[in-house]
Amino acid sequence: MTDGQLAGTIASAMEEARGRDAEDVLARMRDRFVTARPEAIYLNGSSLGRLPAPTADRLALMVNEEWGTNLAEARTQWLDLSERIGDSIAQHALGAGPGEVVVGECTSVQLYKLAVAAVRARSERGTIITADDNFPTDRYVLDGVAADHGMSVLTLPAHADTGLDLDALRAALDENVALVSLSLVSYRSSALLDMAEVNRLVHDAGALVLWDLSHAVGAVPIELEDTKADLAVGSGYKHLYGGPGAPAFLYVRRTLQDRLRQPIQGWFGHRQQLEMLPAYEPDPTVRRFQTGFPPVLSLTALAAGIGLVGEAGMDALRAKGLALAEMLQDLVAEHLFPVGYTLASPPDAWRRGVHLTLRHADASRIHPLVSRADLAIDHMAPDLLRLSATPLNTRFTDIVEAVDRIRMVTNEFLGGGG
Ligand SMILES: *Cc1c(COP(=O)(O)O)cnc(C)c1O
Repeated sequence: MTDGQLAGTIASAMEEARGRDAEDVLARMRDRFVTARPEAIYLNGSSLGRLPAPTADRLALMVNEEWGTNLAEARTQWLDLSERIGDSIAQHALGAGPGEVVVGECTSVQLYKLAVAAVRARSERGTIITADDNFPTDRYVLDGVAADHGMSVLTLPAHADTGLDLDALRAALDENVALVSLSLVSYRSSALLDMAEVNRLVHDAGALVLWDLSHAVGAVPIELEDTKADLAVGSGYKHLYGGPGAPAFLYVRRTLQDRLRQPIQGWFGHRQQLEMLPAYEPDPTVRRFQTGFPPVLSLTALAAGIGLVGEAGMDALRAKGLALAEMLQDLVAEHLFPVGYTLASPPDAWRRGVHLTLRHADASRIHPLVSRADLAIDHMAPDLLRLSATPLNTRFTDIVEAVDRIRMVTNEFLGGGG
């Protein structure tokens, strides 16, 4: 195709995208976010979700009214804030019940707490299983837990683009496996695992399963209870819009709660927290997985983000996410494959989270040019670009514009003797 013909197909794609935006039942949700520079296109929500419009006012109210005016009198409202926000995440995004989720420290620490609790409960076993496409912090934490408990980590090789093959997990599971810890959606390829099937396989081997839902929560529907998941953690600052460094949640299936002990015994996990007793006694409920005073300001911001996810609803978010993904993938094939890109994600949208990863030999040199074209996407070394089409605040026209900007800067780069 000539440049003129390509420009024509972009123009007709843009026309179609305008129609899709006009019919989009979630279109109004975009206005619930701050868009400081409308010309900028933001497909970086897998690193940090956009700022919800209500967040600043809710923070100001918390600071001025509750902290500034009521001071310590407001304390009683804060003592169970982690649980209340945990219940809200459970209801809107996790398919879990009340009393199964609390919010607290960062994802790495939450993962550490639950991994230690799990291996203590299977102390006669010596292996932790994970996969090599799991997020680095997860692998570091699991390595540390294994070393401290005289265990070994078996890291299964996942396919770089399509994720972990469950046959590899089947073959690795035996009576020596204590814990299997995987990401539901891979941060790199976007591969989405079959949670129900993994849970079943792990349970058949008598082991426990610990999910990292960081790239899945708020992006794809999750059914922790129906699929019989044991344990899970997830980030608050990606598709839950809690802001930089937002606290992460942890989930413990209700029937496991009084049988697991986490390693950081703090007063917020005590069964009689305010009695100030000399010795630690864990609360029988999910509270025992808390440690200290929750980050109230951060939780206030997180609550604003979760409110928007709940307002949209996971079914509508998934439907739009798939529609955006389909359009993006078609445009990528038409306009970006000819300039050297290939797919580094599973080819079926229903087998992915909301990000799509592309491979290009010159990705590291193209990425700064993309940024200069006012398109925010991730670069992952050495040769990957990650585009996150978050259904809560991405327009169909943004997708067309993004592909057009990538095509233009890539053409310039290649034409410039790159
Ligand atoms: C973003 C992310 C984290 C973040 O960890 P923090 O300790 O909260 O910084 C952890 N795991 C995965 C899979 C992530 O995507």
